[in-house]
Parts: sequence; structure tokens; C-alpha cells
Amino acid sequence: MANPEAAPPEIAEKVTSLREIIEYHAARYYDHDDPEIPDADYDEMIRQLEALEAEWPDLITEDSRTQRVGGVASATFAPVEHRVPMMSLDNAFDVDELYAWGGRLLRGLDLIDNDVEDQAVAGQDVGYATELKIDGVAISIRYEDGRFVQAATRGNGRVGEDVTENIRTLATVPERLPAGAPAVLEARGEVYMPWAVFEALNAAQEEVGAPRYANPRNTAAGSLRQKDPRVTSSRELAWWSYQVGEIQGGPEITAHSEMLGYLGSLGLPVNPERKVLGTLKEVAARSAHWQEYRHSLEYEIDGLVVKVDDLARQRSLGSTSKAPRWAIAIKFPPEEKTTRLNDIHISVGRTGRVTPFAVLEPVVVGGSTVGMATLHNQDQVAAKDVRPGDTVIVRKAGDVIPEVVGPVVADRVKGSVPWEFPTICPCGLNQPLVRPEGESEHRCLHGACPYQKQGRIEYFASRSAMDIEGLGEQRVHQFIELGLLEDIGDIFAIDFDRLRDLEGYGDLSISNLQSAIDEARSRPLTNLLVGLAIRHLGPAGAEALARTFGDLDGIIAATEQELAAVDGVGPTIADSVREFLDQEQNLAVVDKLREAGVNFEGPPPPELAQTLVGLSVVVTGTLGGFSRDGAEDAIKGRGGKSPGSVSKKTTAVVVGDSPGASKLAKAEDLGVPILDEGGFVELLETGHVPGAAPDDDDG
Ligand code: NAD
Repeated sequence: MANPEAAPPEIAEKVTSLREIIEYHAARYYDHDDPEIPDADYDEMIRQLEALEAEWPDLITEDSRTQRVGGVASATFAPVEHRVPMMSLDNAFDVDELYAWGGRLLRGLDLIDNDVEDQAVAGQDVGYATELKIDGVAISIRYEDGRFVQAATRGNGRVGEDVTENIRTLATVPERLPAGAPAVLEARGEVYMPWAVFEALNAAQEEVGAPRYANPRNTAAGSLRQKDPRVTSSRELAWWSYQVGEIQGGPEITAHSEMLGYLGSLGLPVNPERKVLGTLKEVAARSAHWQEYRHSLEYEIDGLVVKVDDLARQRSLGSTSKAPRWAIAIKFPPEEKTTRLNDIHISVGRTGRVTPFAVLEPVVVGGSTVGMATLHNQDQVAAKDVRPGDTVIVRKAGDVIPEVVGPVVADRVKGSVPWEFPTICPCGLNQPLVRPEGESEHRCLHGACPYQKQGRIEYFASRSAMDIEGLGEQRVHQFIELGLLEDIGDIFAIDFDRLRDLEGYGDLSISNLQSAIDEARSRPLTNLLVGLAIRHLGPAGAEALARTFGDLDGIIAATEQELAAVDGVGPTIADSVREFLDQEQNLAVVDKLREAGVNFEGPPPPELAQTLVGLSVVVTGTLGGFSRDGAEDAIKGRGGKSPGSVSKKTTAVVVGDSPGASKLAKAEDLGVPILDEGGFVELLETGHVPGAAPDDDDG
């Protein structure tokens, strides 16, 4: 139930830290195409956040992941503003959730009364277009006068990335549409990597001893977002079109299914496995069918998309800030198989974190072979009580990362004993593994642990951080062995002459590596911060710190409180940034980077006077001198917040023409000051609510 009161501090803190973790994983998934956790775990966190926000609506912020489309438009590609936003889809994880959506839909269309049960209307004939949910990357392909002119990724839904030249290399994207095509047509769809291409790519990787790609979705995303279109071209991506964005001209069309037929008639690829069904009961049956036969397809799917077929009804239902109300994605549950657990090993990561993992008898799950799976930490192994020799259930959650669900206890060999967590790091320095109180993970605390050293340097050079091409796992290992690298600070002082005598190093490869390292010196401060591998600090937090403090020295000088006050940072990140920067050896590395001429400067600090720091201003209705986004930018640009709803914490509500009745009523209810446009301008300039008593320090 929604609670009208302001949330207690412990709930607010829980929401903040949940959002921090979600932001980190969203960046790994959307920006780096390299998730660390299964989709099901991510979805579970989103659901927890949704539940907390539903209970405590005053905690809802516009930038919460529950309120907006995932992803950012990275700086690697030029931005493209979507004239029609590219939305996400709401999810149904079972039949009850599907029917609940159906109930909301019929009530939204005024076709049933509020008290009718969802189950009772699942047999009502509405006309649902069903399509496979292709697991790839959303794309918008724009044709003007029948010519292919631009392609963009979804980005944050409003602004995407210009990937025109990369999309041009896809064999199934026509350069021209037939005569009579609409003056403007944006075909939206999903770019994917067929299984056969994915398998061939992995076979080639194995041949040269390079790591396998995890799954077709992330590989397709990575292949699409390449700086060099020739790389995209070599990846043989394909796409299916499932929707129209902007359209000008063309025939009169009244149903979604008809629109798909029309796209097909223009020579665009439209998936053949589509069908219009009358009722949600039939939809549920079709979903069950595809769940069973999903691996008979030549590409990966992760669900069934259901759309109200009638376009007039779609328009009347409209969208939330994140997804259309007229569509839902039924998500398939993860697939499970059994296999033998041959052993449990541990790995030591760049932060010294020790992760146990299962060494499995290879088994095909979710369409790909699984030989290893993370077991996360000691408690997880104990809770699952998996033991070497056990038959275990393996699941491909969200078809991304394999997971060991648990043992088949009935098949357990007699006399087996629970697995014990190793007490010594395998790094050879005879270092004990410690588990700090209150934490779930073991760590190797020895800064010289070669596994950590390797992990830190590799991470620093990776695409997510300083992007040093040619400095990958094998070379980092070799350079450490040769004594060329102790820490990331040494990268910029590598003695290239020592490489000349080594096998595999010609003049060209040495000069390529040299220039890649030189280029990295001028990477943005955000990348450098990410590269320092500070626990919990992901790209979004790094960007916020860089922007607020202006340079690395400003961050080093900041107190924990000052760090935690930065929007998008919070106490968990602040604590670990401070802890990292308080350590002598880390500061010594920072000094090496400084001496090597690595860029420490952040983006210029905001030019506007920061009059609204700590204040929260809600705008409702249309203003004369500001667009909706403009008013929001004016608030945020001055350090304020502009949430979508009114709460006790709101400083003032600005009211334009045709304001939202509920916001106005709530403001009056809570006694929040109400301003007109003139008052708003004054507030922006002075930071004071016109007419209000000056701030009282005790108040
Ligand atoms: P989504 O992928 O669940 O659904 C929306 C997307 O479905 C659309 O943008 C479109 O690209 C695609 N789609 C495929 N077929 C379609 C069709 N026929 N019609 C319409 N759309 C179709 O939502 P999302 O917002 O892109 O991402 C959320 C997903 O990403 C979740 O599955 C989540 O688990 C995963 N994720 C995982 C992590 C992680 O760390 N593992 C992090 C972030 C997000």
C-alpha cells in the first residue's frame, strides 16, 4: 500500500544503496555490453526497488531505473535525438502477471468495471499481436524519401548513438526502399547475432587462445558499437523490424499487425513467427509453446512480446515514462539442466575479492556450453551445500550467466563432506584469506598478490576504463613476469626496448602499443577514476565526482561527507573512495600517473550559480519561457533536484498552464509553497522561495 508519509531514513538509505548497485550493473550491461550478474538477479533488484517505491512514493525520483529507459548515449558516437522516444517494455514473469496486465488494459479502455477479476477477462477477445522477443539490441533505422539516411541505438530512449555506418554493413538493411515508400519512415527493430555466427566467432577465438564470448546478445551489442564499421561488418549481424517510430506519408493503417505486413512489403525483414490472437488465454498458450521450442530457432529469444493490435486503442492507452501501456513482454524463466560438479576452485579478482566457482562437466544449457559457473561466496556454497562429485542443477538465468541452483541430493555419493573454503590465497605468497566481519566475501589483503596485480592492470587497460588497445590479459601477464609492470603507474614507463628481442613483437606491434599507451594519457578523468578500480565506483559515480570536483586532486582533498553529498554517489561509494584514497600505496600510484602526464582534469564545473543545491522543485503544467526539459535543466543546472512528484521534502511547486491536479492538491495538502513563472525565475536566481521567511538555521 502507498504510504502518504515521508519514508523513514533507513528505508531511504536502503533505496539509495539499492539504486547505487543497480546503476553499477546497468552500466555494465548497457554501456559496456558486459554484465556481471544474471538478468534474473538484476530484475529481482528492480522489483525490490519498485516495491519500496510503491510503498513509499515520496522516494520516487525521475532518474530512478524504475522510471526511465536504460542505457546512455556514450561519447564514442554522435548523439541522435529520437523524434519519437524509444521505449522499454514492462515485463510479466508468469501468467498471473500477464492477466493482471490484461485487467489494467481493459480498465484503461473502459471496457470493464474496476471490480471485475483479471482472471475473468483473460478469455475476452481483444486482439493481441504476439511476436518473439528477440534478445539483441534495439535500433531505429531512418529512411527519407526511400533512402537509408541514419541509424541510432536506443540510448536513454530520448537520445541514442549514431551507428549509421555500422548498420549500413548489415546485409539485410536495404539502402533504398521501393518507389512509393513514405517520405519519412523510422523502422525500429532488434539487431541480433544468429547462433551460427556466434558459434563460429567463438571457434575462431578458441583457435587463437582468446576468451570465448559469453552470449549472442552482448556480442551483438559489442559488435554494433564498434568504432570501426569493418569490425561490425565482419560480425554478420542481422535484424528484425517490429515497430515504426516516426512516419510521414504511406498508407492508412489501423492495426499493428497490418503495419508489420507493410514493413515486410517494403523489403524490411519482419519475423515470420508472428500471430494475432484473440484472448490472453491463447497468448499464454503460445508463450508456453515458444518457451519449449525456443532453441529450435536460429537466434536467441528471451520471451514473447504481446501488443494490443488496434492502433487507436494503443493511442488511447498511451505510455508511462518508461514503457507503453499497450504492450508487455512475457519473460521466459531460466532454463535448467543437470550435470556433474567436478570440483570447486577459487579465483582472486582485482580488488582481492575471492570468488569460488564450480568446475562442471560441460553441459549445453540455454543453447550454449557451460563448463564453469560462479558460486559467489562462502555462504552461497554453504546454503546450496554443493560438494565436488555432486550432480547439480545448472541454470542459464536470463540466458546470460550460468548459475548452479543446487545439488540433486538423492544422487549424492556416500561419504561426501561439505566443501571447505580455502584459508590460504593460491597466489603463492602464503597469504591468509580473510572474511571481514559483516561481509559475505573473503579477500586476499596482500597488495602484492599477483592475481590482484594482474586484475588491476588488465582492468585499467580495458575498454571500460583507459581503453589501451593491445594490452590484454596475456600481455599483462607477460609484462608482470618480465618485471616490467608492478602497478598501473608503470604502464606509462614500459621499456619498449626490452620487448624487441621477444617472440611475437615486431616494430609495428611495439609502435602500436606505444601509441595506444600515449593516447590513454589524455582519456577523460571519468575513465581514469573507473580504471583505479575503486570498489563500488562505476562509470556513473565516477562521472558525477569528476564533474563536481573538477579534477582528481579535488576528489583526493574531499571529505567523505563531501563525496557522499554528490548526486549519484551516496554513502557506500563515498566510503570506499575515501578508503582507497587514504592508502599510501594508492597515492603513490596516483603520483606515478601524475608524473607520466596522465590527464587529471575533469569536465568544466557548471557555469550557472549553484543556487538550488539541496532544494527540490517540482514543475507542473506548461510555462511560457521554458519548455518542460528546459525548466528541468534550469533546476538541475543550478544544483537542484526536479522530481516527478510532490512530497514533504519539496521546496516549491511551480505551476504553469493546465497543471496536474494531483500535484497541485498534494502541494496544498502538505503546505508546500506554490509559485508562478515569475516566482520560479526569482527562485532560480536567488535560491529563495519568494515571500517565504529567510532560512532558519535550526529549522
Ligand atoms: P527488455 O529488453 O526487457 O525489453 C525491451 C526491449 O525488448 C526493447 O527495447 C526491444 O529492444 C526488445 N524487443 C525484442 N523483441 C521485440 C519485439 N518484438 N517488440 C518490441 N520490442 C522488442 O528491456 P530493457 O529495458 O532493454 O532491458 C531490461 C533487460 O536488460 C532485462 O532483461 C534486464 O534483466 C536486462 N539487464 C540486465 C542487467 C544485468 O546486469 N544482467 C543489467 C541491466 C539490464
